[in-house]
Amino acid sequence: MSSFKHSRPKGTQDFAPPQSDRKHRVEELFRHLAGLYGFQEIVIPVFEHTEVFIKSTGVGSDIVTKQMYTFKDRAGRSLTLRPEGTPGVVRAALENRVRMPCRLFYLGPYFRYERPQKGRTREFNQLGIEALGEASPLVDAEIIGFGDSFFRELGIADCTIQLNSIGCRECRPLYRQNLVGFLTRHRDELCNDCHVRLERNPLRVFDCKNSACQNLLAQAPKPREHLCSECDRHFSEVREALNRQGLQYELNDRLARGLDYYNRTTFEYLSGRLGAQDSLGGGGRYDYLVEEFGGPETPATGLAIGLDRTMLAMPELEQNKRRRLAFVVWMSDAELEPARKLLDQLRAEGIPARMDFDAGRPKRQFKLADAAGASCCVIVGPDELTRGVYSLKDLLTGEQTEVPVNTIAIQVRALLRD
Ligand code: AMP
Repeated sequence: MSSFKHSRPKGTQDFAPPQSDRKHRVEELFRHLAGLYGFQEIVIPVFEHTEVFIKSTGVGSDIVTKQMYTFKDRAGRSLTLRPEGTPGVVRAALENRVRMPCRLFYLGPYFRYERPQKGRTREFNQLGIEALGEASPLVDAEIIGFGDSFFRELGIADCTIQLNSIGCRECRPLYRQNLVGFLTRHRDELCNDCHVRLERNPLRVFDCKNSACQNLLAQAPKPREHLCSECDRHFSEVREALNRQGLQYELNDRLARGLDYYNRTTFEYLSGRLGAQDSLGGGGRYDYLVEEFGGPETPATGLAIGLDRTMLAMPELEQNKRRRLAFVVWMSDAELEPARKLLDQLRAEGIPARMDFDAGRPKRQFKLADAAGASCCVIVGPDELTRGVYSLKDLLTGEQTEVPVNTIAIQVRALLRD
């Protein structure tokens, strides 16, 4: 085994082929689905002014207190690598005066300083959608349905949906008061982190992974029991819409999500194939965030999907899968130029194609074609050229046929696999 000079930083990841092809396919499906639901792409910076996240994700959240990559630039500004998508999208929608209501999607890398393990890295990829300016509970249900369609399309059969409502400005103060009362009575049973949460932002105790705290929280007052009539109606309508859409869900009273800006509906998708890090994605309503960023009162709801975990939960690819690639093989120097012309022709017809300029010997060219995962080889030989044909070899079945030069593109296309 060779030893390399450099390795990637802990918690980052590389996507080399064929994983990069797989990633691309998931992203393409996401783009396609987002387009079908009327979302348009928004591209935002990988870092923002730190206060963008402090103000939205929340001072007491795990992300802000423990996980942000915050640094000073050379002029002394505090900047942070984006740990999540929504704050940057809201900031950008306002700064670019995007007309509301609007539906935006984004994808790309996100960064959190966490303890790396299966399904949890310090650099990871999110695919997100945000509907700004839509208040109806039917939108919450539509977005929950979006995620469900996405996972189903990828063959993730064991995805379950968890659902909760955490109330609004009207009903949350009373809930908060009851929760604080309960937590104060059980202060001794809480971990040190939860003592701090209790002081700073009590709802964040629901983010705690400590099993003693989790057990205690099972008996804590539940947000759903404190909903005002408006929130109660909204939540009933979300549930009725999900039922009409044929989507099954489980109610989870502890689903507060680790971000401060949510109100009313929160939801998460879980997969049994992922082990401890079982959340594929999640989202919820955030009706106050646009206003808190200086915009007009704007109801909003969104969803973020973890691309890396999605790829872990997807069924394995078939072994020895061929890809959309044709390989042009030339027999001797005299066929090099005709072969190269054929390469141009195939590409002009939209067929991904390669050849090996270094090889010389056809045997080596066939080996390379196989190693590249090509679907077929088009063989350009002296005998074939005089007869106006190419030999076409299907690399999956090994079958070889002769094809008239003027139909080559059609025949190659029929053999391409992906
Ligand atoms: P969140 O909004 O924090 O729930 O993140 C949404 C989704 O992003 C999660 O459900 C995960 O699929 C993914 N995600 C969040 N943090 C990480 C991480 N550190 N590593 C890999 N995926 C992550």
